[in-house]
Amino acid sequence: MTLIDGNLISNQIKEEVKEKVSQLVQAGHKQPHLAAILVGNDGASQTYVGHKVKSCEQVGFKSTLIRCEDTITENELIQQIHQLNNNPYIDGFIVQLPLPKHIDADKILLEIDASKDVDGFHPINFGRMCLNLPAYIPATPMGIMTLIERYKIETAGKHCVVIGRSNIVGRPMSVLMSRSGIDCTVTLCHSRTKNLKEECLRADIIIAALGKPQFVTKDMVKPGAVIIDVGITRLEDASKKSGYRIVGDVDFEGVKDQCSFITPVPGGVGPMTVVSLLLNTLQASQKLIYNN
Ligand code: NAP
Repeated sequence: MTLIDGNLISNQIKEEVKEKVSQLVQAGHKQPHLAAILVGNDGASQTYVGHKVKSCEQVGFKSTLIRCEDTITENELIQQIHQLNNNPYIDGFIVQLPLPKHIDADKILLEIDASKDVDGFHPINFGRMCLNLPAYIPATPMGIMTLIERYKIETAGKHCVVIGRSNIVGRPMSVLMSRSGIDCTVTLCHSRTKNLKEECLRADIIIAALGKPQFVTKDMVKPGAVIIDVGITRLEDASKKSGYRIVGDVDFEGVKDQCSFITPVPGGVGPMTVVSLLLNTLQASQKLIYNN
């Protein structure tokens, strides 16, 4: 079994991005600039945004964090977004999800200028991705594709089962794995899928993105399968300083000797999400996807 080391690959990519930024700045270009809007005080969201800001510093990007009270109205948030859309110094920005219940996230995402939508959540980017046109690819699926590429995992003609059909992970994953050049045959499973265990047992590659800790067990995995665990669930754990531990959607200990490759949690897909956001921002600063 080969452990897919997301920390290792993400650090390699950060070095590559840092080098590219240094070349751009030496050639007289400005530093790439990522902004993030964080609404409220959700602990996990603050941690994720914190990692994004820190990663920007590591590679020589500028970053701007805009913090809003969770009482902000939908209209006020939209105004913030319009300001970022119109700010020529900001190359790309994200609105950290989830948003408070009184704000319609779909409506908010529609307000982001597609050329600055480095999370790749806007329907224009999603549509362009489906049509194989230049687009910002959502960060987590893009990170998984990078891991597959860098570990030279065979995909052509393989059967890939994706568990979870969310717009930010499962659905785009199913699109990317079936692309020409990757060439998997994809089965997209969800909570209404019948015989999920049988579907998984037919899989050469399982991508688990359902948010149910240790859901995928040894009896669901064909010997030699590739396992990509996207899940992140915080479970209370008094033995940890933080009071919790992070658990994936796969029973790692049970499955690890059954498979050919596996991503750990933490340290697998998670670190790749942040570097993919950096790569999208680098593209935005160079106007490689949209040239307006
Ligand atoms: P989500 O929006 O809650 O979607 C979960 C999906 O899983 C839904 O499509 C749901 O089906 C399906 N599902 C739920 N229970 C199921 C079951 N028993 N059997 C089969 N399918 C089931 O979640 P998400 O945003 O995609 O996130 C999924 C997980 O990935 C979470 O743990 C999240 O924290 C993690 N995540 C990690 C990263 C990272 O950087 N590593 C990034 C994003 C998310 P229905 O559509 O039928 O409801």
